[in-house]
Amino acid sequence: MRTDYDALVLGAGVAGSSMAAMLAAQGWSTALMDRQRFPKHKVCGEFLSPESRLMLSAMGLTEKVESLEPHVISRISLFLARGGPIELPLPGTAIGVSRHRLDAALQRHAAAEGALLLQGGTVTAVIPYEHGYIVHVRQGGEVIEVTARIVVAAWGAGGQGRLFGRYDNQVEGGGRRKQRSVLAHERSSVGVKSHFVWPRSTDSPGDAVELYFFPGGYLGINGIECGRCNVAALLDREDIPRSHTTVEGMLKEAASRNAALQRRMRDAQLVQGTEAAVAPVRIGKHPAPWRNIPHIGDAIGRIPPLCGDGMSMGLRSAQLCAAYAHRYLAGEWTYEQWRMAYTRAISSQFSGPLRWGKAVEGMLRHPAASRLLPGLAKLAPRLACKFVEATRLRISSLSE
Ligand SMILES: Cc1cc2nc3c(=O)[nH]c(=O)nc-3n(C[C@H](O)[C@H](O)[C@H](O)COP(=O)(O)OP(=O)(O)OC[C@H]3O[C@@H](n4cnc5c(N)ncnc54)[C@H](O)[C@@H]3O)c2cc1C
Repeated sequence: MRTDYDALVLGAGVAGSSMAAMLAAQGWSTALMDRQRFPKHKVCGEFLSPESRLMLSAMGLTEKVESLEPHVISRISLFLARGGPIELPLPGTAIGVSRHRLDAALQRHAAAEGALLLQGGTVTAVIPYEHGYIVHVRQGGEVIEVTARIVVAAWGAGGQGRLFGRYDNQVEGGGRRKQRSVLAHERSSVGVKSHFVWPRSTDSPGDAVELYFFPGGYLGINGIECGRCNVAALLDREDIPRSHTTVEGMLKEAASRNAALQRRMRDAQLVQGTEAAVAPVRIGKHPAPWRNIPHIGDAIGRIPPLCGDGMSMGLRSAQLCAAYAHRYLAGEWTYEQWRMAYTRAISSQFSGPLRWGKAVEGMLRHPAASRLLPGLAKLAPRLACKFVEATRLRISSLSE
């Protein structure tokens, strides 16, 4: 295997695969690495927002995604713990498609553009070296050393700061004690998902993405390919009874906490083998696009899942980062120019959605929400739409 590249992209999710495809298409030798093997089921609502579709179209991927037979979604229905649904329009047409299909399609696209895809290799260290980096990849008991001029972190929200060792602590400032104290105040959540089918298709959510709120979390349902629906939930860890150790058990228990959800899930049948779970799920407060190396996608900071916009932020950050990385690799920009331009662009485009996403999530989960919001949304529907818009990337900024 070749071990020297222009670019290494660490993590082959939506963000990493699209980044690798763009770099390879520009003629840079690129490797895309992931510790997992694909295709695989991943915790996600599998809702591709109108903004995500716009990004995919800008990357020339509309046909490839359409060939995955996605389900068309045109409205949102919110079900709070009590009261009737709140119906809101989407700011455009969305689609539902499984990550099992989508991630594999984006990886195939990166490979077709010329990137090497290395699966099943865990990155264990990123070490600055002369004019680039050495990356350690553990695969099958062996550690391979790969070098590259640039390395991009697309490793999701798992927090891989330890890969930089002491170097990272110096740059972050604050050290381990400060990091632990911040996390100690965060709600510890578990993300779960599975595909379901309904015996009669008329019983499924149709063209709506349905969001249900209940004490201890929330859950989303929307159609995907092949007449299936994806059901994904974010649950407070301490609220999950110890007896519920399977994804199906956790979803059923969650359904019992919202009457409308219980009715919705009554006849739903789980599609075996599509379950996935992840913990802890941490939500970002401020975007962190550069820690030693550029970060893209959830590695920058995760937006609350209820916004359904994480993938569009992953695609957008990859698009920006690839354009700036090209300038650096071509010798037009210094590393510092790239860092400053990328940090500025991400801060201006992502800070609002991250901040508002957290605020809207907090508001919808508040016990008083089910008393006040349905009436408010009817009285001031435009205000409700403004809240939805504030949690999303601005369409106008996507063309920059
Ligand atoms: C419950 C839930 C529901 C959601 N619903 C939606 C939704 O409906 N719509 C939406 O747009 N977004 C949604 N999101 C957010 C969305 O899933 C993420 O924003 C998106 O997956 C981010 O993509 P990514 O490429 O940045 O990271 P990921 O998809 O997480 O990919 C990161 C990759 O890096 C790999 N990796 C990590 N560490 C290493 C390592 N050391 N070495 C090698 N590889 C490594 C991992 O294996 C993984 O494949 C949801 C999230 C949750 C938790």
